[in-house]
Amino acid sequence: MNGGVDEALDDAVQLRRAGPGERRQAMALLWRAARPDGRHVTGATFWLAVAGLLEAAGPLFGKQFIDTYLLPRALDWTTMALLIAGYLLTGIAASLLRYVQLVRLAGLATRSVLRLRESVYAHVLRLPMAFFDRAITGQLVSRITNDTEAVKRLYTQVLFEVLVGLTVLFGVIVAMLWLDWRLMLLVLVLVPATIGIVWGYQRLSAEPVARARALRSDINARVAEGIAGMTVLQAMGAVPRFCARFADTNGAHYVARMGEVRANAWLLRPALDFLNILLIVVMVAAVGTQRMEGVEAGLLYAFIAYVARIVEPMIQITMQFSTLQQSVIAAARANALLQEPAPPPVVHDGRIEQGRVRLADVTFGYDPARPVLHDLSLEIPAGAFIGIVGHTGSGKSTLLSLLLRFYVPQAGRIDIDGIPLAGVGDAHFRAAVGLVPQEPFLLAASARENIDMGRGLSDDAVVTAARAARAHEFIVQLEAGYETPLGEGGARLSAGQKQLIAVARALAGRPRILFLDEATSRIDSETEQRVQEALTELHGATTVIAIAHRLSTIRAADRIVVLNHGRIAEEGTHEALMAIDGGIYQRLYLLQQIGD
Ligand code: ATP
Ligand code: MG
Repeated sequence: MNGGVDEALDDAVQLRRAGPGERRQAMALLWRAARPDGRHVTGATFWLAVAGLLEAAGPLFGKQFIDTYLLPRALDWTTMALLIAGYLLTGIAASLLRYVQLVRLAGLATRSVLRLRESVYAHVLRLPMAFFDRAITGQLVSRITNDTEAVKRLYTQVLFEVLVGLTVLFGVIVAMLWLDWRLMLLVLVLVPATIGIVWGYQRLSAEPVARARALRSDINARVAEGIAGMTVLQAMGAVPRFCARFADTNGAHYVARMGEVRANAWLLRPALDFLNILLIVVMVAAVGTQRMEGVEAGLLYAFIAYVARIVEPMIQITMQFSTLQQSVIAAARANALLQEPAPPPVVHDGRIEQGRVRLADVTFGYDPARPVLHDLSLEIPAGAFIGIVGHTGSGKSTLLSLLLRFYVPQAGRIDIDGIPLAGVGDAHFRAAVGLVPQEPFLLAASARENIDMGRGLSDDAVVTAARAARAHEFIVQLEAGYETPLGEGGARLSAGQKQLIAVARALAGRPRILFLDEATSRIDSETEQRVQEALTELHGATTVIAIAHRLSTIRAADRIVVLNHGRIAEEGTHEALMAIDGGIYQRLYLLQQIGD
């Protein structure tokens, strides 16, 4: 049940173990994302330094006021007004500068996230199909959305807090040194003590923090899974069980969050406040018992003000180490995605003119050690209608995947019109080849957009394709016709209607080569018959390669190829194959006849 948690923890642990190389790469990525905004980093650094110094200067005015005017009762209104104005102005200027720079860094961070997310998403969409065979959707989504977002904190928190903190610390220490070095040394005891407390706090809270984060992604996964599998959940009466499982995860998340809150409540703030008070008491005592001669009231005031100004930046700086750590972990995950090798861009610009396909001794396995297709040779003339049949798992869809360039065979070659498959220009290839996949994929968009798929086809082309695919009739009956939203994954359509939309989509591109993978398996025989007629009209102009379990679909094919365990077992027209006594095709066909 806690698979998600352990996985996320593993991720974090792995990175901690990972070498400095990976960290360097992650940091480089973070910087690359921000580079176009580089001048903002330098600008913000400068102004934040000014703000820090102004902030450190404030108490000096107070000290002057107390020592020179207040205690000697030498009230000179003009100078006093000047001092008060100085105190006020430095304070206002410091907060204003900070605020403006924070907004500036937030803008920089948001743009960095935008750039990073765009590049990761674009890269993932280009990855070879083999990558998606092992990818886990939820994880990919979280890497593209959350991990890129975490990068933002590097700039709005880490960089901002550290810059502000360091300059304030620097200014305060210089001011203290100038005022009284003995008191300064006393105050500096704070530095190791604060760092120690914050470090202890982080040690205590690291585990619950990591756990809470992992559990949150678990909660997301549970919600997503529940909604995606709603039909099955309700039909199987699994709703109470899923609610209980959700409550478990949610409860575990609560416990982890409370652990974090407790570490904060018991250790961080009270301990630091206590330290603060203790230091002020010691300082007052030191001054009060005259152990330090020459200390004036104004000076004491200034130091008390400085103690307050020094603690907060130190907490912030120390806390930022873990934020930095998390940002680097997130960046490393995003970077790992970017490091996935994308196929080299196709530089050739061969064109498919006729649609003649030739396979010579093609061998392929998803795992090269276990081939799915063996020594396959096939000659398909332009404009032919080829049927492919074979048992489940015999390699039919795999063959199409190779022809579609989703995978590259380990041996042998595939030519189209005499050009190696890889030599066809990419944009041209995708336009010249049409596919109706075994599992139709519909966008949560209108019927029109689902057929057009962003190709900018004319309304006429869309309707013509829909008519040919026999989808027009039911589309016009939807409440808004072609503009009706089809719901996520085409949820509003029947299984067969989804297939017809997919067929219309493939036909709309007027491909030279059309691949149909069980394109009409969920359609009634009568509608199928009519789709078949439309396909027959393509004969001679378009090469059609159709996989079918229902053999009536490909009965009229010019040639039928029977695949068996990744090898061509039989090949010929329907009549020729039926003539092979005891052949695979004959057996399959006769069984279906009995079934009908
Ligand atoms: P069906 O009629 O059920 O659609 P098929 O002939 O299309 O079957 P393929 O999908 O080509 O069969 O699968 C052939 C073999 O390759 C199967 O043994 C399957 O387990 C394996 N296989 C398919 N896809 C993958 C993949 N992405 N990764 C690893 N192995 C795969
Ligand atoms: Mg298949």
